[in-house]
Amino acid sequence: GLADRLQSTIQKIRGKGKVTESDVKEMMREVRLALLEADVNFKVVKDFVKKVSERSVGQEVMKSLTPGQQVIKVVKEELTELMGGEQSKIAVANRPPTVIMMVGLQGAGKTTTTGKLANLLRKKYNRNPMLVAADIYRPAAIKQLETLGKQLSMPVFSLGDQVSPVEIAKQAIQKAKEDHHDYVLIDTAGRLHVDEALMDELKQIKELTKPDEIFLVVDAMTGQDAVNVASSFNEQLGLTGVVLTKLDGDTRGGAALSIRSVTNTPIKFVGLGEKMDAIEPFHPERMASRILGMGDVLTLIEKAQANVDEEKARELEQKMRTASFTFDDFLEQLGQVRNMGPLDELLKMMPGANKIKGLNNLQIDDKQIAHVEAIIKSMTKQEKIQPEMINASRRKRIAKGSGTSVPEVNRLLKQFEDMKKMMKQMAGMQQKGKKKGGFK
Ligand code: GDP
Ligand code: MG
Repeated sequence: GLADRLQSTIQKIRGKGKVTESDVKEMMREVRLALLEADVNFKVVKDFVKKVSERSVGQEVMKSLTPGQQVIKVVKEELTELMGGEQSKIAVANRPPTVIMMVGLQGAGKTTTTGKLANLLRKKYNRNPMLVAADIYRPAAIKQLETLGKQLSMPVFSLGDQVSPVEIAKQAIQKAKEDHHDYVLIDTAGRLHVDEALMDELKQIKELTKPDEIFLVVDAMTGQDAVNVASSFNEQLGLTGVVLTKLDGDTRGGAALSIRSVTNTPIKFVGLGEKMDAIEPFHPERMASRILGMGDVLTLIEKAQANVDEEKARELEQKMRTASFTFDDFLEQLGQVRNMGPLDELLKMMPGANKIKGLNNLQIDDKQIAHVEAIIKSMTKQEKIQPEMINASRRKRIAKGSGTSVPEVNRLLKQFEDMKKMMKQMAGMQQKGKKKGGFK
């Protein structure tokens, strides 16, 4: 996928103490190919590569102490910018209800997303939404929304399939006002292709309901087609946002990168599965991190999941999040982590890892691992949980017991402390991120 290709390109340039124009050129050639292969719009790729190249051969990068890192930073910033920079928020009407119109082609995920979004609005933002079944054409479309409504214990407004969608929308808003709903989500009909009849109907609903948001639901798996669909809907209706669905199945990721710059419409949410909680606000920076494999806890967890059983992976995740990691865990993880790849590489995936002093010394090779294991096994139960208590005489005892040396014991204790600090910082960042609706 895109991430893999960009990451291997990045590995090549990361550590370079000197970056020449031809290094940048070579990297950009690979970035270009990776993006095109991921089905990113051709023009978008061209502009992107141009921008990154210009900035990368500029003074700010070449004169810096870590040009390799700087180039990556530029790539990340430009990727973030490409996807819209800041995360965009969902509108709130001055006078409730806030009306959200869901539009898109048939099968894109409108009805599902209507349910997911209502669920999110209630759970995360404490809102009281009402759903409106305005797709009278697709057989069982009304029933589908009603079923979701029942599942979510959320009211669904419907007048059957004999009343026009425009009339349904009109009466729905009246009803929402009476019942004090603060959000109204209108699930509209789709077609297999963009056509005039569909657009006319949607325009009428828009005219009448004056929606605060018009969200286009598009299927990420359709790649460039998703971008084309977004363009025509935007021209005809004036979208306020895009919901990119089925990102769980999209391995190429091209649509996420093209939509914003081609249509100038922000991606506001992404769908990551069929379940009602499989939706997330879209964070351009987080997505860029994900694509580049930088500071990406999710990737780390995925790696853990691929190599250890799920139960253990969840434990590891939990311990990392809460930084309640003991030497016993450390020992247990050592073996598993070794299957995942070099430990220092894994640690670099953690957000903020590059800012933590001492991390670069945190290199544990296979030969050392045997020593590390011996040292940990020579600790008492209490020492493993509370390494702060390991004073000079305890250090001596541990060194003797493990057949290592005091400096080795010291080094491990220091490394462990650094690691815990980093985990704490990471957990803190996630907390902070949560409040802002995203983590950096
Ligand atoms: P609509 O015609 O636009 O209303 O599309 P539906 O909401 O009926 O969805 C069509 C199909 O896509 C259904 O089987 C959904 O379960 C599925 N679907 C919707 N969103 C997602 C998603 O984010 N991920 C996955 N994997 N499937 C999705
Ligand atoms: Mg539908």
